[in-house]
Amino acid sequence: MNPSLEIDIKNLLRPHIRDLVPYSSARDEYTGKVGVFLDANENPEGSVIAGKHNRYPDPLQRELKARIAEIKGVHPERIFLGNGSDEAIDLLFRAFCEPGKDKVLLLPPTYGMYKVSAAINGVEIENVPLTKDYQIDLGAVLNKIDTVQPKLIFLCSPNNPTGNTLSRDAMRSVIERASGLVIVDEAYVDFSSEGSLLQADLTNYHNLMVLQTFSKAWGLANLRVGMAFADPAIIAVLNKIKAPYNLSGVTQDLALEAVNKHEAKNKMVSEILANREWLKNELKEIPLVEHIYPTEANFLLVKVPDADELYSRLIGDKIIVRNRSRVQNCEGCLRISVGTREENEQLIDALKLLS
Ligand SMILES: *Cc1c(COP(=O)(O)O)cnc(C)c1O
Repeated sequence: MNPSLEIDIKNLLRPHIRDLVPYSSARDEYTGKVGVFLDANENPEGSVIAGKHNRYPDPLQRELKARIAEIKGVHPERIFLGNGSDEAIDLLFRAFCEPGKDKVLLLPPTYGMYKVSAAINGVEIENVPLTKDYQIDLGAVLNKIDTVQPKLIFLCSPNNPTGNTLSRDAMRSVIERASGLVIVDEAYVDFSSEGSLLQADLTNYHNLMVLQTFSKAWGLANLRVGMAFADPAIIAVLNKIKAPYNLSGVTQDLALEAVNKHEAKNKMVSEILANREWLKNELKEIPLVEHIYPTEANFLLVKVPDADELYSRLIGDKIIVRNRSRVQNCEGCLRISVGTREENEQLIDALKLLS
C-alpha cells in the first residue's frame, strides 16, 4: 500500500459491518452533564452502595481520551479505549475478517491472544515464524503478503514471549507492503529503549494501528484498559461495533487519575528496569541457566535443560513462572516476569538450591 494514499476502509471491512447502523445509546444523543435525566431508565435515587454509580458512563470516554491525547501527542479521534487491548484485537477480527474467507498473518512465537481471537472468529491464520534471533523474516513476510493478502498482520514489539524489539525498518517495510491493517502491539513499550512508533509513524501510515495498555507499566492490569491508536476511519469502525458502555465509569475515573501520575509510572518503570538488570546478572551465575535472551520488556526468556521439570519444582516452592517450552521456537524456555527485589531474590535462592 502506498502510505500517502488514504486507506480504503470501505473495501477492507466486512460488507455487513460497512452497512451496519450502530446502536445509539441515550448518552450518545445528549452529551451535556447538567439536566434532568429521564432518558436511560436509571435509578434516580442513587446506588445501594456508597458512591454515585447510578448513571451510565460516557460511551466514548471523552475526558480520559483528551488527557491521553495530551500525554501521547495524538489527536483524540485517533484513540480507541477498550476493556484491555484484547477487546481491540477481537473487534478488529469482527470488523475486518470474514470467517472462512479472509486470512491474518502472525509471526510466531508471539502473544497467544492473536491466535485465540482468530480461532474464536473462525478466521484462518498464516504463519511466518520469526528468525532464529526472533526478528522479522522480511523476504518471507513480504512474499506472504503478496500471495495471501492478509486483512490483519500482527507485529509485537517488544515481543511476548521473547522480549526483544523488532527491527523498525522491517516493520515499516511490512506496513508499506500490506494491503490490510498492520497492528503493532506495544504492550511493553515503556520498558524499551527503542520507543514507540506512535509519534513517528501513526500519521504517515493510514493502515497502522498501535496497541498500548495500562496493564503493564502503569500497574493497572486489574482495571482492564487498553489503548488502540489509528487513523480516525479505523477508530470510528471500532466505536461503531463495540459494546456501548465498554469501560465502566469507575474504570474511566481511575484511569484518568492514573494518567495524571505519569511521573509515578516512570519511577516504577526505572525500578523494574534496575531489578531486571539485577535478575539478569544473577541468572547468569546459575548453572541451570543455559541462555538468557536479550530483553526490552519486564520479563526474561530463559533457556534451561529441562523446562517442564524446573517449572514444576519452582511451583513446589510456590514460585510461578510461565512455561513456554511447548511454544514453537521456544523449546526449553521459561518466561520469568521481573518481580520486586525480594521476589527476585527468592527465585534466585530457589534456583541455587535446585542447581
Ligand atoms: C499483556 C499484553 C497485552 C495486554 O493486554 P490487556 O488486555 O490490555 O491487559 C497486550 N499485548 C501483549 C503482547 C501482552 O503481552
